[in-house]
Amino acid sequence: TTAGTTREAQSAGATRHVPEGLPSRIQHYIDGEFVDSADGDTFDVLDPVTNETYVLAAAGKKADIDRAVAAARRAFAEGPWPRMLPRERSRVLHRIADIVESRDARLAQLESFDSGLPITQALGQARRAAENFRFFADLIVAQADDAYKVPGRQMNYVNRKPIGVAGLITPWNTPFMLESWKLGPALATGNTVVLKPAEFTPLSASLWAGIFEEAGLPKGVFNLVNGLGEDAGDALVKHPDVPLISFTGESRTGQLIFGNAAPFLKGLSMELGGKSPAVVFADADLDAAIDATIFGVFSLNGERCTAGSRILVERPIYDEFVRRYAAQADRVVVGYPHDPKTEVGALVHPEHYEKVVSYIEIGKSEARLVAGGDRPEGFETGNFVRPTVFADVAPDARIFQEEIFGPVVAITPFDTDEEALELANGVRYGLAAYVWTNDLKRAHNFSQAIEAGMVWLNSNNVRDLRTPFGGVKASGLGHEGGYRSIDFYTDQQAVHITLGPAHNPTFGKADAA
Ligand code: NAD
Repeated sequence: TTAGTTREAQSAGATRHVPEGLPSRIQHYIDGEFVDSADGDTFDVLDPVTNETYVLAAAGKKADIDRAVAAARRAFAEGPWPRMLPRERSRVLHRIADIVESRDARLAQLESFDSGLPITQALGQARRAAENFRFFADLIVAQADDAYKVPGRQMNYVNRKPIGVAGLITPWNTPFMLESWKLGPALATGNTVVLKPAEFTPLSASLWAGIFEEAGLPKGVFNLVNGLGEDAGDALVKHPDVPLISFTGESRTGQLIFGNAAPFLKGLSMELGGKSPAVVFADADLDAAIDATIFGVFSLNGERCTAGSRILVERPIYDEFVRRYAAQADRVVVGYPHDPKTEVGALVHPEHYEKVVSYIEIGKSEARLVAGGDRPEGFETGNFVRPTVFADVAPDARIFQEEIFGPVVAITPFDTDEEALELANGVRYGLAAYVWTNDLKRAHNFSQAIEAGMVWLNSNNVRDLRTPFGGVKASGLGHEGGYRSIDFYTDQQAVHITLGPAHNPTFGKADAA
């Protein structure tokens, strides 16, 4: 691990960085105004590099959610937004994308500071957020209306309508980008929204308010309530005037929300946890597979829902793979989030750091540690952990079965395709899968048999915005992405018209005949 230590030390030498112009407090944004909680309550937001409180955020409760939902409902019932032509809404969305693009560096700086994500990766996420808006701005004007005709007899068409107030609940990993993923389609289709962002990372969410105002989004269309999941999130889920909830977060939280939304029969979309396999066959391009599987679990600090956190490797290349993988993991640069050289920054929050570290300890008793397993040298405080690799991980090990959501990977050997498939599918999750082989038939047959919402074949995490995104099993419910998002955020009312001679029912006319 000599090389790793040198590069970590270099990074440790860089001075710590606090962005200028941080807000003195984080508020809710309701009906076009920044406001505090009705009861004045706040919670601490921590800097993940020091774990010191850097700002207080308004802790929203039911009363604040009620206000936000009332504003969103008014904007939906009386305001211009749902009534605008798609191309008018599209123009506003394009302006939002322009503003996000023009401020990408600042957004990345704040996001990186708040979340601990490496600055270069936060920048990529800010740009992706702009792309999300641009994509849905284009999609709503390009979308053809559905119409079905039987010439001379009947015509049927689908009247797409916004649903109302959409409740959006988001997690702390890549917060700004994941918010854009829901805000883009929800707004494009003419809904109004209440966003409840993750309490670990509320900073970037509050920036939407200024961006939207500048772009000309009417007031009341976007509302933001900060706060804890069990208070603000729970109140949003249980609000009778919020007919749909789009949630991204842990599977356990998803289950709870599913139950809480059941009495209202709400529309639900759930993007949940993962423990995705990367399956590397002996005939794969080994260099490419190693680079991609390193990136796949260590980028975004390993706090990535689609992380390939279980690597299954065919026996003939297993030893070489483990040796090379561990050596490369050792060279991944852990450092301050603001440093452009940093590849793994600080984990988001001490609570999450403790969780990741406890899994590393469990892993040490379950498998063979071949890289990492402790703090990087020179980082005595904050949520820093070295990229950690376990080999010979048995399928019943907790580090094989449970989502760690940090820079920790489990490697397991296999002998046959059948065994690989059984291992790949042998967990409760089914979000993503990665397959590495140059055998075309095997690649497709194997991918089709994998229980995963998304499969990447000899490929990284690239994704066209038109494709569906979602998981199976404990990884989710429904799909978003492309037209699936438009479907989720709209009612599709079917209208039927008779064009030919009227169909004359004879019911009740027996006497007349
Ligand atoms: P989390 O479930 O703890 O929290 C997510 C959000 O839900 C937060 O805003 C939180 O305040 C809120 N919440 C918590 N309890 C709630 C309740 N009872 N009612 C309503 N809202 C509540 O998840 P997290 O720790 O913020 O995020 C990490 C998880 O998200 C991981 O499991 C990860 O895999 C998953 N994730 C999935 C995807 C995906 O697309 N599948 C993407 C990113 C993250």
